[in-house]
Amino acid sequence: MKYLKLAEFYEEASDTTKRLEKIEILSKFLKQLDECDRDVLYLLMGDIYPEYDDRKIGISNQLALKCIAKSTGINEKDVLKEWKNIGDLGRVAEKLVSNKKQSTLGGKGVLTTDKVIDNLRKLPGLVGKGTVGKKISLITELLTSASSIEALYLVRTLIGDLRIGVKESTIRDSISSAFFNSEEGASKKIQDAIDKTNDIAAVFDIAAKKKLSGFNKLKLEVGKPIKVMLAEKALTIEDAFVSVGKPCAVEYKYDGFRMLIHKEGDKVMFFTRNLENVSSQFPEVVDYIKKYVKGKSFILDSEAVGFNKKTKEYKPFQEISQRIRRKYNIEKLRDELPVEINVFDILFYEGKSLLSEPFQKRSVLVRKIVKNHPYKIVTSKQIITSDEKKAEAFYKKALGDNQEGAMFKNLSAGYQPGRRVGHMLKIKPESKDLDLVITGGEYGTGKRSGWLSSFILSCRGKKGEFLEVGKMGTGIKEKSTLDTGEDISFNELTEKLKPYFLKESGRTVKIKPKIVVSVTYQEIQNSPNYNSGFALRFPRFTALRPDRSPDSVSTLEELKKDYDSQKRNWRYG
Ligand code: ATP
Repeated sequence: MKYLKLAEFYEEASDTTKRLEKIEILSKFLKQLDECDRDVLYLLMGDIYPEYDDRKIGISNQLALKCIAKSTGINEKDVLKEWKNIGDLGRVAEKLVSNKKQSTLGGKGVLTTDKVIDNLRKLPGLVGKGTVGKKISLITELLTSASSIEALYLVRTLIGDLRIGVKESTIRDSISSAFFNSEEGASKKIQDAIDKTNDIAAVFDIAAKKKLSGFNKLKLEVGKPIKVMLAEKALTIEDAFVSVGKPCAVEYKYDGFRMLIHKEGDKVMFFTRNLENVSSQFPEVVDYIKKYVKGKSFILDSEAVGFNKKTKEYKPFQEISQRIRRKYNIEKLRDELPVEINVFDILFYEGKSLLSEPFQKRSVLVRKIVKNHPYKIVTSKQIITSDEKKAEAFYKKALGDNQEGAMFKNLSAGYQPGRRVGHMLKIKPESKDLDLVITGGEYGTGKRSGWLSSFILSCRGKKGEFLEVGKMGTGIKEKSTLDTGEDISFNELTEKLKPYFLKESGRTVKIKPKIVVSVTYQEIQNSPNYNSGFALRFPRFTALRPDRSPDSVSTLEELKKDYDSQKRNWRYG
């Protein structure tokens, strides 16, 4: 298909903010696709592979800028100037290509989506010497044949900022409308298919044949990570029981990071809840899985928790976050920062999906196949009870063991990938920590000049937008911390953020929401200074969260809850 047709769709979709209109536009577009255009579905999501695949386009603004300069023959400084004026690199490409095309009259409509995908798919695999040059020539080849509107969306795709407001749910409902006349139950079937495969093009393949029963063919597969099920929050144990029913399972809420364990024969893979493949970072866990878990093929859900080698005391997440981040000296890190795997769920066993099986059945199976070896791999600590007092004692025991709190789980509920569900609840002491995403910054002065010294933090609003909640400048080191532990310095954090700078004016920078951090704070206040309406008092950096995506940061709703509970001066434990 012509890339121009897709670019025109992007344009039409971004012209409306109304969800139903977007669905109508997308549905019309989907009907025009041939089966061989399946990969266009990835482009609709700003991607080139299914979501479970961690090969991403990953082009920085700086590199995109170079490519715009090269393909339009305008020098980089002038492109930079335009970027500073316009503030949107896509629009810069659109303008400069349009100026150029007026003088050369070429290029319109020759690009195909196949060619775009072909070139973009070559990018993630490039490593080593000459990589930058090769990337530039692959991108420039596309940009030189692009019309202005194609250039706009090519650049936005490259830098991962499509801005057309099409989410997975929009695609789901558009597929339902395009191929099943939005008949009852279609959206749910499509969503189930997306959940199971995490592959929107595979879902399109079936949908295009217009038979809802076709979706039954789609299966959960080992090696293709799906999005994890998330918990809602309960303020009291009483509330938790009301939501999940009695009796329920109460488990330790471990303070580590989520690890999805996939095994097929001899192959063992690990994924974070961000779907990042971290298999090579945990060689010792591969051994644990092979030795202590019975079965040829399975997918387990677990929390990896760090502990002190000598004292065996459990450590908070921020002290072991390096185990995910670091890609070298793995052996050394493995010795210094050992982890214990706490398995709490199973999604697939010996060729069969367990997503719709009741939690209790899954939980029993976990306990049957995992052989507990403390400080290596164990099943989550669990009681099944209807008794609030017992649940409270168990919760306090979890806190005493340095864990975060407790999880309450409905015994008969299935596993719903990618959803925050009311049948799994978390309860923690008065909430004083949040995961937030950095969306801006301010350059420092004096000894901190040259890098950002304060960082604007945002939570997520109802519609998925990002809303500012305050500025953070503490908890970050002055000097480089490379290889010294879990901390990060101002200049390291600035370097990490640089590829995502959207606009600089004076000392302030707007930053694309990408880098997630955990912060503690003293109090939440009402504030007119931030568009969330709240401000954190004394936010302090505690950890980078490479395992979290910006979509999963704390929501405004959660902040409100924390604010209200703080007002009531509620304390638990
Ligand atoms: P928080 O910021 O409160 O830790 P979260 O962002 O980690 O929450 P939630 O879904 O709100 O995510 O809480 C569930 C998380 O708790 C899971 O993602 C998982 O990493 C962790 N966890 C620890 N122990 C368990 C357990 N026994 N069962 C399920 N999840 C657990």
